[in-house]
Amino acid sequence: MSEFQQNFDIVIIGGGVIGGATATFLARREDFNGSIAVIERDRTYEFASTPRSMGGVRQQFTTPENIRISQFTAEFLRNLPDYLAVEGETPDLSFRQNGYLFLASSESETAMRRIHATQTREGAPVALLTPDEIGARFPEMRLDGVTLGSFGTEHEGWIDAFALVQGFRKKAQSLGVAFLNEEAVGLTLDKGRVSEVQLRSGIRIGCGIAVNAAGYMSGSVAAWAGLDMPVKPRKRMVFVIDNRRPAPHWPLLIDLNGVYIRPEGRYFLCGVSPEESEDSDADPADFEVDHDWFETRIWETLAARALMFEAVKVVNAWAGHYDMNLFDHNAILGPHPDVPNLIHATGFSGHGIQQSPAVGRGVAELIATGGYESLDLSAFRVERIAENKPFVEEAVV
Ligand SMILES: Cc1cc2nc3c(=O)[nH]c(=O)nc-3n(C[C@H](O)[C@H](O)[C@H](O)COP(=O)(O)OP(=O)(O)OC[C@H]3O[C@@H](n4cnc5c(N)ncnc54)[C@H](O)[C@@H]3O)c2cc1C
Repeated sequence: MSEFQQNFDIVIIGGGVIGGATATFLARREDFNGSIAVIERDRTYEFASTPRSMGGVRQQFTTPENIRISQFTAEFLRNLPDYLAVEGETPDLSFRQNGYLFLASSESETAMRRIHATQTREGAPVALLTPDEIGARFPEMRLDGVTLGSFGTEHEGWIDAFALVQGFRKKAQSLGVAFLNEEAVGLTLDKGRVSEVQLRSGIRIGCGIAVNAAGYMSGSVAAWAGLDMPVKPRKRMVFVIDNRRPAPHWPLLIDLNGVYIRPEGRYFLCGVSPEESEDSDADPADFEVDHDWFETRIWETLAARALMFEAVKVVNAWAGHYDMNLFDHNAILGPHPDVPNLIHATGFSGHGIQQSPAVGRGVAELIATGGYESLDLSAFRVERIAENKPFVEEAVV
């Protein structure tokens, strides 16, 4: 091992949207003058979850906490120059505010109405639409079996997630954050605290606080500190289809069985998560696409939903990993009581991109002040796992 060693007050492991947002929000605080390093092993982000995602951004969650997180996302996207401009240039996230449209049947309609009441109470701009109203907006949709739809009328749609991760990186760097093109391979513990992050190159980085923002690898990072964090890589696939009839006005549609689809230029992106019973931990190096998945799990739903999907061609496909929180499918934020200077920001289970602004801001507050200032994110605390108190969010896609 090299004798070379550097010290930073804060060392963030992982420079995806979550690590990048944390670095950015911390570095822009006037009350924080410490040094910050982000350790990112892949500056192309080829295998990170962020660029392999659908880029979806929605208000339609079912818990006040997640809805409030989304409200900050909306604020962040509206005022992007305030957060991400560097020398007068703001990244173009290509935010397409087409909305999400969740469909309900007679069995799920009551739940949709109950969830809508929560969303309305929290001020989320979501409208319940009858099948006729859905048909008026999206005449291509066949609505057999649909009794109600829930549509986000503002601040919902999708962004270019790769542009967001680059935007955070550039902004953080402009504020003095060091990005080290290195792979973390271990943690040195001293009296129950992380004292160093060990890198594959042999370098050891001393730290006051370490942040675990390693996405689907964050369960392994926690294990280096002897912690059992229920976050595992779970493979998800996205298919790009050409139906020869672009419908750029379409929303991000979540069908009755969870099949999702949204337009992307002249194509559509689509996918579906497996049933929980058939979902298993993935090899983090496995990015192979199961091409039958489209034929057997997706196509029939799409063809039933719109004539324009009866004849389609898959023109591209990829696999990525959710950073799946097996305990309750939601963010895990903050320190574990056994290793108090290792802060976790992980477990997003398919909604980490849209939560990155509020999470980055919240983790920055935790580091700078020891608590949350703007939005109370304590519902996502690590301790809930040991206490067996799951955070129940119904809208996990
Ligand atoms: C198919 C798919 C669709 C999705 N759709 C959406 C969506 O519509 N909306 C949404 O909000 N979310 C979506 N998600 C989830 C979202 O992509 C993730 O929750 C989010 O990207 C997590 O961000 P992250 O920064 O934690 O992880 P990542 O983007 O994976 O970044 C983690 C980084 O850590 C680095 N790293 C890991 N280990 C180490 C190490 N030991 N040393 C150094 N660096 C390391 C990696 O190289 C990586 O760059 C989707 C995910 C998938 C797979």
